Amino acid sequence: MIQPLPYVEKISPYVPGKPVKELERELGISSCVKLASNENPLGPSPKAVAAIQEFLSGSEELCRYPEGSGYYLKAALQNKLSAGGIAVGFDNLILGNGSNELLNIATRTYMSPGDEAVMSQMSFVVYSMAVQAVGGVAHQVPMTNYRHDLAAMADAITPKTKMVFVANPNNPTGTTSTAGEFERFMQRVPENVLVVVDEAYIEYVSRQDYPDTLKYFAAGRDILLLRTFSKAYGLASLRIGYGIAKPEIITAINRLREPFNTNTLAQVAAEAAVADDEHVRNTLVNNAAGKQYLMKELAALELPGVPSEANFIFVPISMDSMSLYDGLLRKGVIIRPIGPKAIRISIGTPHENERFIAALKEILAA
Ligand SMILES: *Cc1c(COP(=O)(O)O)cnc(C)c1O
Repeated sequence: MIQPLPYVEKISPYVPGKPVKELERELGISSCVKLASNENPLGPSPKAVAAIQEFLSGSEELCRYPEGSGYYLKAALQNKLSAGGIAVGFDNLILGNGSNELLNIATRTYMSPGDEAVMSQMSFVVYSMAVQAVGGVAHQVPMTNYRHDLAAMADAITPKTKMVFVANPNNPTGTTSTAGEFERFMQRVPENVLVVVDEAYIEYVSRQDYPDTLKYFAAGRDILLLRTFSKAYGLASLRIGYGIAKPEIITAINRLREPFNTNTLAQVAAEAAVADDEHVRNTLVNNAAGKQYLMKELAALELPGVPSEANFIFVPISMDSMSLYDGLLRKGVIIRPIGPKAIRISIGTPHENERFIAALKEILAA
């Protein structure tokens, strides 16, 4: 029988958060709460929904292929991203079917079997999957205090290293690297190593010492910044994200992009969402309040969460994470177990957060 490539066989499949509908079917109830995948609890930008509706009502465009270049969305992004003073043009942008796709095609662009990539332990699992998929070696550097140890990651770079993945804020821990740490790191990364900075949660960051990564892109460094519409913009189901890099990198990655990788509805929705500052503002207000509430309640239960700059909280626990996960499921609350001794909770609406805390209290009291 035909056999998969040995390095493909070693990949453990991504385990997505359990869908609400699935749990509701299993439990036979209808009010389950999902705090497992860092989605926007306020839903999509209403402007994005309206844009899709208008698009659908106005045309037979669904029978046409999408505009492969994503012209209008790129124009909107160019406007928004250039507002800070560093110009981001069309030739600095690539759209992806989620930033997940861009992680994969960037890795396929630059790595061949035996090449190495450096990343942090307890970071986004897709990095190691992308590297394994090309027969590369994913070098995972231990964290310190649930944060990327960027100095140790720089130490881990060898002549075989082609890529370094930095998640900032990091998923699942919600921690950030500071501007100073990132600057020292970039000073040590050799030429010809691509630094991928995954900024899926950048909209949520409030701390002042967060690195301005556009600066490195503008300075011509080998850096690829990845952002997404799946989190703060609430468009996870449409699958759309983007990358920012110098033209040489965009051109190279583009060769592996499928011609119609982002669909028309996603482009139309994202273009409207970019302009919907109000929805992002509401999202951040809800997130900040929910974070404060959850951190306080968790601390009162002697399960302190790790301070987060994102829309989720990482909680190290002393009990078995799978049994806590199962216990919460039975009470209609879906969270994410992380390894044997931690959980990650997405910050929801006030009602969802209260449901989680109430269920947690019942389990701890039992
Ligand atoms: C959610 C997430 C993404 C975004 O994935 P999409 O494919 O854009 O939905 C990327 N990186 C990290 C760290 C994430 O948590």
